[in-house]
Amino acid sequence: MEKLRLAIQKSGRLSEGSMDLIKKCGIKVSNGKGKLKAEASNFPIEFLFLRDDDIPGYVADGVADIGIVGENVLVEKAKEVKLIHRLGFSKCRLSLAIPKSEEYSGISYFEGKDIATSYPKILSDYLKEQGVNAQIHEISGSVEIAPSIGLAQGVCDIVSSGSTLFQNGLKEVEEIFFSEAVAVASPGLSAEKQEILDKLLFRINALQNADSNKYILLNAPEEAVDKIISVLPGMKSPSILPLAQKGWVSMHSVINENDFWDKIEELKEAGAQGILVVPIEKMVL
Ligand code: ATP
Ligand code: ZN
Repeated sequence: MEKLRLAIQKSGRLSEGSMDLIKKCGIKVSNGKGKLKAEASNFPIEFLFLRDDDIPGYVADGVADIGIVGENVLVEKAKEVKLIHRLGFSKCRLSLAIPKSEEYSGISYFEGKDIATSYPKILSDYLKEQGVNAQIHEISGSVEIAPSIGLAQGVCDIVSSGSTLFQNGLKEVEEIFFSEAVAVASPGLSAEKQEILDKLLFRINALQNADSNKYILLNAPEEAVDKIISVLPGMKSPSILPLAQKGWVSMHSVINENDFWDKIEELKEAGAQGILVVPIEKMVL
């Protein structure tokens, strides 16, 4: 039987999230430290452990069938791959930063200046869009020291909290690109590989649905049931179980994380008591 080849980052800020996702999908893999390849014991998938920068190229060439990579690297490399799923981890942004002591007047500040970055394509697309002409200096690491050594007057780099910039005497002045981990696929997967990929995506969807929903249980007097149903539609409709105490029921349903606090208020007003909200591990719609 064919196996789906998945490329993931060997070690870095995507590795833990990628392996964690695979584990939560119920896929067992033993990746001995330092190994470049591994196989799952209970799913037709094998793993290639690579530098993240190489992943879009390997997937485009079909050496790997799918890969997990930051959207920043995906867009920067501009290879022929399909973005198939957003994964929601390793969130970060690419920002422009300048020395703290400088006064920032807006994007025209960068006109005629030198900017150091590891993301020349994303930066040049952004500057073009903004109508700014600047010289881009591509460097592969430690971008944040470029201004202090006189290489550039500004940098364009990955930021998550901003503390690295701050420690290097810089301040963030423009956010230019938002990134998260994404799954990408090779354009020409065989039908058999596509089928394995669909199985994997089914599991990933079940996890993501579970993460964005909560299971809710509450007690209510029977006369409040209709009102509560209108607040709590659930996956189909809520389950209702009688309580030992006459005239009271227990209602069970699923609620979206995002409107959770608003709903709680409405439920209390409708007469709900003893509200419990518990996490869901997997959810298949
Ligand atoms: P490699 O050795 O594989 O080339 P790297 O040093 O280029 O690794 P990492 O720092 O591990 O890369 O970052 C990998 C990806 O994780 C980035 O491309 C970005 O999408 C994301 N990322 C980077 N920094 C952060 C951060 N501080 N918080 C969250 N995600 C981040
Ligand atoms: Zn890298």
